[in-house]
Amino acid sequence: MQAIRQYFHSLMLLELFKGLNVTFRYFHQPKFTLSYPEEKTPKSPRYRGLHALRRYPNGEERCIACKLCEAVCPALAITIDSTQREDGTRRTTRYDIDMFKCIYCGFCEESCPVDSIVETSFTDYHFEERGEHIVDKQQLLALGDRFEEQIAADRAKDAPYR
Ligand code: SF4
Ligand code: SF4
Repeated sequence: MQAIRQYFHSLMLLELFKGLNVTFRYFHQPKFTLSYPEEKTPKSPRYRGLHALRRYPNGEERCIACKLCEAVCPALAITIDSTQREDGTRRTTRYDIDMFKCIYCGFCEESCPVDSIVETSFTDYHFEERGEHIVDKQQLLALGDRFEEQIAADRAKDAPYR
C-alpha cells in the first residue's frame, strides 16, 4: 500500500512543487549572497588582514626598532635588524614578515608602542613567485602609505574602546 501511495505521489510531482514553493517563498526576500569581488561585506575596524608599517605625517617612519612585535609574535614570523642613526635614534634596517607563518593574531599590532605595525582590512592579495611570502620593510611601508587613510579611520573608530 505504501509503495502504491509513493508511486502516485511521484506521478503528481509533489516533491517538485514543494521545492518550488520554497523557491517562490524566498524569491522576493532580501538576498544574503554577494557578488564578490564587485560587492563586499562591511568589515570591522579591528579586522586583521595584510600588515603595513605606518609613517608620521611628516614622512618619518614610526617604527623605533624596539622589537616588541618580534618578541611577542607566537609564530616567529617577524625578523628585525636594527641600527642607530647619526641623530641617535634607532631604526630598523630589516623588517620582514613571513606571511606563510603569520596566523593573523594581531599581537604585533597590540604590542607596538608607536602604532607602527598594523593589520589593514586588505585581504585581496596573493603570491605568484617563490619567496614573495616574505614581505619586507619597503613593501610594508608602501602598504602603510597606500592604506593610511583607511588605517587612520579604522583606528579612530576603535579608539573609544581601547
Ligand atoms: S599577526 Fe600574529 S602571527 Fe602575524 S606577525 Fe603579527 S604577531 Fe606574528
Ligand atoms: S613595529 Fe612597533 S613593536 Fe615592532 S619594532 Fe617597530 S616600534 Fe617596536
